[in-house]
Amino acid sequence: MKQKRQQKNWVGSIWIGVVILIGIFSFFQLEFAVNQALYNTVFNLLHSTAVEQQYTVNLSLQTTKNDAVSIAKTVEGKNEMEILTHLQEQQSIFQFDGLYFMDRLGNGMSADGNLAATQVVEKLNYDTESVMVTKPYQSVTTGNTVIGIQAPVFYEQVVIGYVLVEYDTTPMMAHLAESLAESGHVIITDAVGNDFLTTTEDFVSREDLREAEFTDSAGLQAVQNALAAHQEGSVSFVLDGVPMTGIFKPLNINDWSIVLVVNENEVTREVQLMSIIVVGALFVVFIVLIILIVNTTTGKRRVEEAAYYDDLTGLPNLMKLKRVIRKQLRTHPKRNYAVIKMDVASFKSINEMFGFATGNKVLLEIANSGKRMQDPSFVMARVGGDDFMMFCSRELGEKLTQDRHQFEQYVVDAIPALNQHKLKFRYGRYFVEQGETDVNEIINKLHLAHSFAKNSGSEGVFDYDDTYKQQLLINTEITNQMEPALKNHEMVPFLQPKFRLSDGCLIGAEALVRWIKPDGKMIFPDQFIPLFESNGFVVQLDQHMLDCICVAFKDWSSRGYPCVPVSINFSRRHLSNPNFVAELVAIVDRHEVPHRYIEIELTETTILNNEERLGEVLADLHEAGFRVSIDDFGAGYSSLGMLKSFVMDTIKLDRSFLMTHQQEDRGHLVIDGIIKLAHSLNMDIVAEGVEEQAQVTLLKEMGCEYGQGYFFAKPIPLQQFTENYMEKPSADNAT
Ligand code: C2E
Ligand code: CA
Ligand code: CA
Repeated sequence: MKQKRQQKNWVGSIWIGVVILIGIFSFFQLEFAVNQALYNTVFNLLHSTAVEQQYTVNLSLQTTKNDAVSIAKTVEGKNEMEILTHLQEQQSIFQFDGLYFMDRLGNGMSADGNLAATQVVEKLNYDTESVMVTKPYQSVTTGNTVIGIQAPVFYEQVVIGYVLVEYDTTPMMAHLAESLAESGHVIITDAVGNDFLTTTEDFVSREDLREAEFTDSAGLQAVQNALAAHQEGSVSFVLDGVPMTGIFKPLNINDWSIVLVVNENEVTREVQLMSIIVVGALFVVFIVLIILIVNTTTGKRRVEEAAYYDDLTGLPNLMKLKRVIRKQLRTHPKRNYAVIKMDVASFKSINEMFGFATGNKVLLEIANSGKRMQDPSFVMARVGGDDFMMFCSRELGEKLTQDRHQFEQYVVDAIPALNQHKLKFRYGRYFVEQGETDVNEIINKLHLAHSFAKNSGSEGVFDYDDTYKQQLLINTEITNQMEPALKNHEMVPFLQPKFRLSDGCLIGAEALVRWIKPDGKMIFPDQFIPLFESNGFVVQLDQHMLDCICVAFKDWSSRGYPCVPVSINFSRRHLSNPNFVAELVAIVDRHEVPHRYIEIELTETTILNNEERLGEVLADLHEAGFRVSIDDFGAGYSSLGMLKSFVMDTIKLDRSFLMTHQQEDRGHLVIDGIIKLAHSLNMDIVAEGVEEQAQVTLLKEMGCEYGQGYFFAKPIPLQQFTENYMEKPSADNAT
């Protein structure tokens, strides 16, 4: 069973491993897809940036062009002095880097009143009627890189000169650089690819480009063609291992184009970071999910183990056993099966005598013997304290119960602490009928067979019998009737006298309960006491018996009869009641009965179950002045050593003891020994179940003083006892 569970664990782990691998693979796929999507978005953005920059440059220069044209218009028809004044006015408004007027020969003046510098003069085209834009150059006045815009000045439709406006490119280029951050640069170039404006000096030079590996086979040439044709386009290349993208757009100025060159790594760094964050977050969620799933499955497995397996032995429990049986009956309905239930008689006493650890070892060894079974159809379950159940083929079930003594010996041998103390097992067995499918019904029948095995007190295997069900019904009926019956005084004491063997003198009596139904039918205690023991009602019954006996004492004393002590049986159940003795005293005192007349009979099992508690109870009983006797001495696990631990007044020698040993010399010696020991301990001995004269003679020879049994008298109703032994105290019955 454990192997199967381990196998299950393995399969589970493999599954989780596979899921994690698939998960990791999917995440790489996902990362790739996310990256791709983000890349596309970024490159679309880059294209939009290029368009925006194209627009910015066009607009800036167009505006300056317009300014130049309007200034040129305003100076038309003015003389040199007037032109100079006008230029000065305009310059104060526009704040150009430079503002000039030049005649067609290149003679001219600056708005600041100086002659136009030679560099400026050289920039101009003196043979045009159009507005012209010069290549960038350094302004003489400001030192900035400027573009000169020359607008013709007409006089009677003839060009007489030009107005030159110097446009500072620095703010424009700064703006362009800003929109790319550090990830690339912007170049303004002409159709042949001569760059004349770049945002960064050391980004990609023209020399660099020659060494670049272009993704497109046409490479640099394709770019040059596109520039020459004043067309837009893009190109990818790798430079020193760095992937780059170039995007170019034509400008409205001359044959110029604007080119964006970007380092893809720089641009996509954020993208990659973002995709890593996104995918990472998803991965974390995935792992958390896996952990949750693993936790719930292992949790479920743990819950299942707790629900289906016994902690101490690791065996399946009843719930699991039922499942196994149900499955087996469903899959192989034609086979013959057996169920067996067993327990250790007086297991509690084993715990008391040998210690809890040894008790546990007994359970473990039973479980081990079950685990060692090779038969695949065999299952053993622990279904309660020392209750075990087995399910197997009918054939195996028969064999197991047949060889049970071997198994029992194996358990004893395996535990040296038991000191070869014989364990008594009780077995119930049920052979499942063909076609039977109701597992609960099967288990109920088995429980019933086992409960009969337990109650019978005899050894052997109890097979389920339909009459058990009848008995169960009777038990239910008794349970239903017991309380009203007690109230109705249907449970009454019979008294069995006890005699001194030497002279036949009455020395006492034992109260034994009889249940007399309203129809007069008498039920004996063996029919209901075991049931009352198990349901606890025996406690009430015993107190009721004591009460009845006290009433009888009152009656006898009021009539002046000589009284003898009466013993009342008290179940082991009373020991768990801390007020046991106090309640007992209360009952006796209520009827004002002298305590010395009351004797409490406790059975050996009572004694073995809880030594410490028993010691206390015995001390309290003696202190209260009651007599105490050990009932059924020699019937159970009695040990003579016990006599030294507890102070008792009387030993009641069990009937079975007397019977077994009456013909044997060894037996005689044992009884003889017990009697001597009891006397030396100042205890009385009452032999129970004396049926024959021979026994009386023998007991007398051995020095046993008292006897009780059918030979003298059967238990008789109170009334009759009063008549026989109180009113006529000579006691004819005695010998
Ligand atoms: P016990 O205490 O050992 O009582 C002696 C039993 O042996 C009585 O059976 C009695 O009728 C029977 N007996 C007496 N002399 C002979 C004999 O010569 N031969 C044979 N074969 N039997 C003899 P009973 O009255 O049926 O009681 C059975 C058991 O029921 C008692 O065994 C006792 O353990 C229990 N019991 C009876 N009355 C009460 C009670 O009021 N309270 C409790 N707790 N247990 C009771
Ligand atoms: Ca008794
Ligand atoms: Ca007895």
